[in-house]
Amino acid sequence: MNKILVTGGAGYIGSHTVVLLVEAGYDVVIFDNFSNSSKESIKRVEKLVNKKIELIEGDIRSKDDLQKVFDAHKIDSVIHFAGLKAVGESVEQPLRYYDNNVYGTVTLCEVMAKNGCKKIIFSSSATVYGDPETTPILENFPTSATNPYGRTKLMVEEILRDLYISDSSWQIVLLRYFNPVGSHSSGTIGEDPNGIPNNLMPFIAQVAVGKREFLSVFGDDYDTHDGTGVRDYIHVVDLADAHLKAVNKIDDFSEVMTINLGTGEGYSVLDMVKAFEEASGKSIPYKIAPRRAGDIATCFADPSYAKEILGWEAKKGVKQMCEDSWRWQSSNPSGY
Ligand code: NAD
Ligand code: UDP
Repeated sequence: MNKILVTGGAGYIGSHTVVLLVEAGYDVVIFDNFSNSSKESIKRVEKLVNKKIELIEGDIRSKDDLQKVFDAHKIDSVIHFAGLKAVGESVEQPLRYYDNNVYGTVTLCEVMAKNGCKKIIFSSSATVYGDPETTPILENFPTSATNPYGRTKLMVEEILRDLYISDSSWQIVLLRYFNPVGSHSSGTIGEDPNGIPNNLMPFIAQVAVGKREFLSVFGDDYDTHDGTGVRDYIHVVDLADAHLKAVNKIDDFSEVMTINLGTGEGYSVLDMVKAFEEASGKSIPYKIAPRRAGDIATCFADPSYAKEILGWEAKKGVKQMCEDSWRWQSSNPSGY
């Protein structure tokens, strides 16, 4: 079976994807610098799949670190999760984001090309659609960025398209994730943010477990059914499954593939609070706060292209997202 390099494989989405890849019979090598993750996640993954997983600790900005992977393993394709992802931090530290996410990806591609490995699946984001004029969002909608994080995603997408134009033997898949939430049904791996969570679901989970007093709901005057922001939450295991399907199909693709990964359904902040209360049996106190700068009212995918191209669609609904997220949070109140 083919060997897959998973950059950022110790992180939230990476760890869940590694489980599915190994279960499907792929050999996996994780490459991570642990800047936003811990080795414990890999130990937990090993326990889940009952198998030792190859790990090379290194930074995607280092050609030497990356070359160690290709010296030790014959890599067929790369799933590239490694990157920094905090929007607010990217506004404060733009150079760090461009260095890590853009320069890091360029370096990765250089080392891949040198070693004759030209298949890459890249973690992009729905943030590249900026503030869309209409929803659901199709892949051909105009793109824009409102912060440095989003700009790194757009830049990398464009760099990868240029790379394909220069050499069409590359096989490139750009996966645009909507809002990944939830965790593996075992509750042993999950999202483990550093400090105060920026994202809604981990914040709600921390309120439910008693780590935080209340949720601040950022704005209740949007043009949505209850005035709070609407997003397309997607279960991380469904997301991981889309990567498995992309790896299985990558040899069939003869152009750069750009694919939305969402459920096609939008839920408001208050919908999610209610769903989490039902799943956890805990009450989630909240206060209405001002809008958060840069937020949009509504964002959800048209996921039909993913179904057509990958044969993939999301299977897990909001109830399961909240139940699994709660299982992870309640059994690991302090994370890993
Ligand atoms: P994460 O922070 O949990 O995982 C990223 C992993 O990459 C971490 O283990 C981190 O240590 C590693 N990493 C970062 N910089 C590195 C470097 N220079 N060298 C080696 N390893 C490095 O994040 P995640 O939620 O799993 O996200 C994975 C990818 O998906 C990211 O590229 C992110 O931007 C993208 N994405 C995430 C979301 C989301 O809401 N979680 C949404 C859209 C896109
Ligand atoms: N949100 C909120 N309180 C929080 C975090 C998020 O009300 O503490 C709202 C946010 O305004 C948005 C939705 O929850 O409407 C999802 O935000 P998140 O940061 O999880 O993802 P985004 O879609 O912004 O990437």
